[in-house]
Amino acid sequence: VSRWSLKGKTALVTGGTRGIGHAIVEDLCGFGATVHTCSRNQDELNNCLNQWRSKGFLVSGSVCDVSSREQREKLIQEVASIFNGKLHIYVNNVGANFRKPTIEYTAEVYSEIMAINLDSAYHLCQLTHPLLKAYGMGSIVFISSIAGVVSLGTGSVYAASKVMFSAAITQLTKNLACEWAKDGIRSNCVVPATTNTPLVEHLLRNKQYMDEMLSRTPLGCIAESHEVSSLVAFLCLPAASYITGQVICVDGGLTVNGFQ
Ligand code: NDP
Repeated sequence: VSRWSLKGKTALVTGGTRGIGHAIVEDLCGFGATVHTCSRNQDELNNCLNQWRSKGFLVSGSVCDVSSREQREKLIQEVASIFNGKLHIYVNNVGANFRKPTIEYTAEVYSEIMAINLDSAYHLCQLTHPLLKAYGMGSIVFISSIAGVVSLGTGSVYAASKVMFSAAITQLTKNLACEWAKDGIRSNCVVPATTNTPLVEHLLRNKQYMDEMLSRTPLGCIAESHEVSSLVAFLCLPAASYITGQVICVDGGLTVNGFQ
């Protein structure tokens, strides 16, 4: 088996119809994996599935809102039945991104963010664990945010909250790496900075935000989705078999940039 191939491997990628998740589906398929993905919009999902199939990619999909516990359970039942109770790769890509000053979060918005980001990630790991363990060689990749690594608040028009969930995902990555190593499961986290996707269209149009982001980013531009998905795919390859518990930024150097 080639160290640089995912041929014969099976993967679940949440939120694959747009942005970073879409690029991850394409990269995993490009390396030969069979992929199942989900999103909340049936039409958009069908469009994507048709396009992928016309490219010869092996992709299936379900409509699923991962913030719902019931729908998560249904999703994993479907995945288990499609892939015969086994899975090699789980990519936890869905995540909400609300920017507000800390004191402006209402209880409702706080609960909503925690449900979408943290509850779903935690529960989906619990649900995929037996499937990943079944092969004895699993890879979990979380997509977090640099908000979990550095404070994004200072001097920005959008004062960001502390974004506890990003930091929690980072720690979950490390704990699962240790706890599930005995089951042959690796766990890593990819941390994008601003990436050109529909999620952040409003930020890309905000000149003040962009000027500040670009001036702080050594590479001087924001990321395209495929620049993030290539690391996700690498972490799933047999070539990455000794890499676990790592949190890796794909940020053009933003988080290591000190005083200019
Ligand atoms: P997009 O909004 O561009 O795409 C999100 C995808 O996930 C869509 O396919 C969407 O489809 C699906 N999705 C969203 N919510 C749910 C849900 N509750 N259940 C199922 N599917 C859902 O996002 P990005 O690609 O930009 O972001 C991907 C990840 O990267 C997120 O975790 C985000 O926080 C993180 N990130 C992104 C950054 C950026 O600058 N873009 C920066 C840092 C982190 P649908 O809406 O139809 O359900």
